Amino acid sequence: MPQPQFFKNALSNPIFNVVSKAASHLQLETYVIGGYVRDYILKRNEPKDFDFVAIGSGIELAKEVAKLLPGNPKVNIFKNYGTAMLKFQNLELEFVGARKESYQEDSRNPAVENGSLEDDQNRRDFTINALALSLNESEFGKLLDPFDGLGDLDRKTIRTPLDPDITFSDDPLRMLRAIRFATQLNFTIEKESLAAIERNAERLTIISQERVVEEINKILLTKKPSIGFELLHRTGLLPYIFPELVALQGIEEKEGQLHKDNFWHTLEVVDNIAETTDDLWLRWAALLHDIGKAPTKRFDKKNGWTFHAHEFVGSKMVYKLFKRLRLPLNEKMKFVQKMVLMSSRPIVLATDVTDSAVRRLIFDAGDHVEDLMTLCEADITTKNPNRYRKYHNNFKLVRDKMVEVEERDHIRNFQPPISGEEIMKTFGLAPSREIGVIKDAIKEAILEGEIPNEYEAAAQFMFQKASELGLKKNNE
Ligand code: ATP
Ligand code: MG
Repeated sequence: MPQPQFFKNALSNPIFNVVSKAASHLQLETYVIGGYVRDYILKRNEPKDFDFVAIGSGIELAKEVAKLLPGNPKVNIFKNYGTAMLKFQNLELEFVGARKESYQEDSRNPAVENGSLEDDQNRRDFTINALALSLNESEFGKLLDPFDGLGDLDRKTIRTPLDPDITFSDDPLRMLRAIRFATQLNFTIEKESLAAIERNAERLTIISQERVVEEINKILLTKKPSIGFELLHRTGLLPYIFPELVALQGIEEKEGQLHKDNFWHTLEVVDNIAETTDDLWLRWAALLHDIGKAPTKRFDKKNGWTFHAHEFVGSKMVYKLFKRLRLPLNEKMKFVQKMVLMSSRPIVLATDVTDSAVRRLIFDAGDHVEDLMTLCEADITTKNPNRYRKYHNNFKLVRDKMVEVEERDHIRNFQPPISGEEIMKTFGLAPSREIGVIKDAIKEAILEGEIPNEYEAAAQFMFQKASELGLKKNNE
């Protein structure tokens, strides 16, 4: 048990004195509760928000605090929820009146009535999120921990304060929060709580996709996202979110030939990429890079197991999945689609690194070629150390070649040296098929390395191509 001084130190930010003063003006019992207290004890990163609970009106308290703070920050009031928020020095201060909640079957929005601190702690999702520190003058810095949240922090345990079946059924979002916290903090979900998630998995269907995605994003952004996905799988939540991933699970055998389990492989790829990038969308690409393998899986005697065109099929599936989960259907989605579509390209290339293949890769991937290489390197999950080394070396060769080719040929943001307009003018053509043919031929010649990526060479090539097509220069 930490010394009392430890908790007093938790309140050394002058904001806590201001809130304490405001509370005593209004004669309101007030506490700081939840995430801040938990993260302070865990010595986690800098706080971004403080949650205050008042036994009475949180909104009145917020207004009084704003009066006392330099610059009198604006108070945002959410009357329906009985909460208020204000921003001060990059911190979000949230205020709520202590409440007692009761739930209906079909909604995660409870009926609310005023309550005691204890009532309010009862409605919190986990014991480690129910810890409160008093801001009342007579007991400033006293810890109020009715469910041994401190012990659970020590044991690295996620546990609901009350009956887990009720807690999760009341607000099924808490099931995802449990898994998200377990992943972020590397904690274990206590046995009863875990079993209750399994029993209540179906309740997830009343949660909006936006909230589900918010938790998935947080899981994806952790150091080891597989912890979360493994839990989603084990508890039976995964089919409600990602049936496409569930379909990847399992190993089939035919005529003595096995294919790998693409679900567990995918989780390894996501963990690998989490070590090399913090880019959320690249992590999404890793999660989805093989989803086309379930619908394209075939077996025949000659070729064994194949997943023909799974990259193409997978990239089409990305759109449907993004739409269903209400993820943005913008350039982020297009990026993920592109990564999935191109996810095998560098692998094919790695065994025979020619200039022209590298030029094509850079041309097709454009500015995302680095990300594509990062994905492909994360995709190496072989347990054979010799192969592991060989594959990484191959990709190193591809990367070296990319630098060399890019320096020489500037393919990355390729603009054809000769425009369609110039071709039209030169040969006195109206918009027509021939122009496309000539333009394409120039591009191909450059990518194949037949001519350098320069105006003079391209112009000469244009004339050659045009005469093959029977075209004559305009002024002749
Ligand atoms: P983080 O900010 O890192 O996500 P947090 O614990 O601060 O973690 P918030 O969503 O900011 O999470 O919520 C603040 C507090 O509100 C939590 O600590 C918890 O006590 C309570 N809380 C949040 N969501 C729920 C919920 N769905 N059910 C019950 N209590 C909740
Ligand atoms: Mg928080």
